[in-house]
Amino acid sequence: MDDRRYEELTPIELAEARARASLAYVPIGSTEFHGPHLPVGFDALHAQAVCLAAVEQTGGVVLPPTFWGTRGHEGYPGSLLLQEETIAALATDILGRLAQQGYRLIVLFTGHWPEVQGGLLKRVAQEHMGRGDGARVIVLDPLTIHPTEARTEHAGRIETSVMLHLRPDLVHMERLEAPDALKAITADCVDATAEYGKAWFEAVVEETVRRVKEAL
Ligand SMILES: [Zn+2]
Repeated sequence: MDDRRYEELTPIELAEARARASLAYVPIGSTEFHGPHLPVGFDALHAQAVCLAAVEQTGGVVLPPTFWGTRGHEGYPGSLLLQEETIAALATDILGRLAQQGYRLIVLFTGHWPEVQGGLLKRVAQEHMGRGDGARVIVLDPLTIHPTEARTEHAGRIETSVMLHLRPDLVHMERLEAPDALKAITADCVDATAEYGKAWFEAVVEETVRRVKEAL
């Protein structure tokens, strides 16, 4: 399998990949408290994994994941959430530079779920397309595109199961038994399994591929 990580490709390889599919995925997350049992970078790791799986079926490239995000569990241990304007400026610049490089379809894929970040990225996408440089932008997130289970959660059964599937070495289920361990996270995290995470993840990848192919 060809490597699709933008940062690992040379200009010639990037041009070849773009000639096959003028498509760039931008995985966006956050650095945010995800309970005592998950890494703070979960959202970006999740987004990157979906994009790397989807790109194998659609062609294109995957940008380095952005671990900066906005709004959520501010003030909790490990959270480094930035101002909305900072993330809007970052996304605006990334879209502008990718369009200059000739990408015609850009997917902003956010693993961080608060409506604030999704809404902000949709606004930035609309503003970018309003400038008319020929690049189209779609904004996706795993929770709202999942075919059967759209709902809200934070570090609950879904996110914990996905990490058990993708990177079990980064999950510490035993820490959920400590007093107050479920504070500020969704309590069904204790029911997480790698099997559930695999099925959930694969459904999200399938729907991402469907939407991207539709947009291509
Ligand atoms: Zn999360």
